[in-house]
Amino acid sequence: MPNALLVINAGSSSIKLALFESGGSGAPALLLCKGMLDHHQQQPQMIVKDLHGNVLFERHAAAEADDESFFADLLRWIDEFLTGGTLLAVGHRVVHGGLKFSEPVKVTPAILQALRELTPLAPLHQPVCLAPIEAMQKLRPDLPQVACFDTAFHHSVAPPMSRFALPRYFEQEGVRRYGFHGLSYEFFARHLREIAPDLAMARVVIAHLGSGASLCAMRNGRSVDTTMSFTTLDGLMMGTRCGAIDPGLPLYLQQQRGLSADEIEHVLYYESGLLGVSGISADVRVLTNSDDPRAAEALELFAFRAGAAIAAMVHSLGGLDAIVFTAGIGENSPEVRKQICAGLGWLGVELDDAANGANELRIGAKTARVATLVVPTDEEAAIAAHSQALITNR
Ligand code: ADP
Repeated sequence: MPNALLVINAGSSSIKLALFESGGSGAPALLLCKGMLDHHQQQPQMIVKDLHGNVLFERHAAAEADDESFFADLLRWIDEFLTGGTLLAVGHRVVHGGLKFSEPVKVTPAILQALRELTPLAPLHQPVCLAPIEAMQKLRPDLPQVACFDTAFHHSVAPPMSRFALPRYFEQEGVRRYGFHGLSYEFFARHLREIAPDLAMARVVIAHLGSGASLCAMRNGRSVDTTMSFTTLDGLMMGTRCGAIDPGLPLYLQQQRGLSADEIEHVLYYESGLLGVSGISADVRVLTNSDDPRAAEALELFAFRAGAAIAAMVHSLGGLDAIVFTAGIGENSPEVRKQICAGLGWLGVELDDAANGANELRIGAKTARVATLVVPTDEEAAIAAHSQALITNR
């Protein structure tokens, strides 16, 4: 067996895992298997499957089992699986790299401390991303670990796009529009060169529509603007997050309704978005299949807000050559894509209904001025590529 890289992509309700064969110098890392540590179940479970969906490793545990014990078993299994090969490094998605980290880094104790200090910028997400790094450090202190940042790709976003209209001193403290989902967007910056070379250097809006959702305005393979900003709440309406709202609204909730900061946080992050507006579900599959008019209203608002935000990204790009839909909703919901694109005809966006219905790569009408694509994202591949480059010092 070859040497390998483990990728850990920790989200709020589950941790995605991927094991890549290390491609050696110059070659890309190749996917061997994918897995998930799922906290949604009554009993947390970890499953790793090969590329055909066959289960390679499975462990269920009592509800109170900690992630570290799952990782200990996973590392033992990886050692067996690699029969003679070595696990060279673990690459992690880290949600916030602040002003300092514009590139992936090898984690040292000082860097881990610097990442902990960024927790106030992403209080709900940063600790979730750092926990697997801390667990791995305890389990295998000598195993190199690489932190790859969701914010890093957006370091190219410059004023005025990176700026809030707040007093200047806040910006000096790091209050700026950071942007997230950067590993997904960075994957596209590379991937478009392979699958759509005509668009790689063009003016492209990538619509990452998953349970968290954002847009990236990309030109020449670089981020020019993005809809999430200081936190992952800004921009698009999401599964349970509100997206952009009147900044006076949290003040109203606090001053007039007497909600505490924690209560307001819960409303904005977990009770809003598709779930809040529909009162039914955050899941587009459930809403699309529902006869309840509130489900249709939630989807209508989601599409309206996404369309309006795409138009804003076009303003930042100075025009539009392509839209790329990705992530759970973007890759799988022809209905949502259709509803969003229906409002963008004036920009030259027009769908081919059959291609859209079949989730094809190119879903735009032949006559459309703007290309429209559906492309699966692969944050884990971006993390593996970075990890390999860092441990081989390329
Ligand atoms: P995350 O990684 O942020 O948790 P995903 O990118 O996996 O999110 O997207 C999850 C969302 O994608 C689900 O909540 C659901 O709304 C949507 N989704 C997943 N599969 C489908 C499908 N087949 N049709 C429509 N929507 C889907």
